[in-house]
Amino acid sequence: MKKIACFPGSFDPFTKGHEDIVRRGLELFDEVIIAVGVNTSKQYYFPLEKRLQHIQSCFPDTANLRIATFEGLTVEFCKNNGCTHILRGLRDTKDFNYEQPIALMNRTMAGIETVFLLPDPNLMAINSTIVREILKSGGKIDAFVTNSNELV
Ligand code: ADP
Repeated sequence: MKKIACFPGSFDPFTKGHEDIVRRGLELFDEVIIAVGVNTSKQYYFPLEKRLQHIQSCFPDTANLRIATFEGLTVEFCKNNGCTHILRGLRDTKDFNYEQPIALMNRTMAGIETVFLLPDPNLMAINSTIVREILKSGGKIDAFVTNSNELV
């Protein structure tokens, strides 16, 4: 059976940390689907179209990668798209403490395993919230985001 990982997130914006997790995931899975979450009650900094276009630009010729959007439960997206695993990145214990109950509940609900990968240590500190704050204050984000020109 093909192993297909869903990498869900808001990616507001998609950083070099996210990109690193995707590239590592592509080494392990037959296919990776970057699933951009759309929550109608949540305010995003970057419009959905911009986020999708930017993510696409980071992987111009990558086979076995799909970019999709989803609303609602990640496990429903997985069922509807044949995903066998959920992929998440772990930066620190704060990420772990947040992710652990979600992964366990997703497994109980749908039998889907979550695979956690660590990024390159140089990318560990990158955080979408801080990237947004830098941008709002007129700073440069090239060190943290590939093709940042696609976003601004
Ligand atoms: P969410 O809104 O679901 O937290 P994010 O867009 O912030 O989504 O992140 C999606 C996933 O990427 C999460 O698993 C998060 O831990 C991981 N991630 C975010 N930044 C990094 C980074 N610098 N290195 C590795 N993983 C990261």
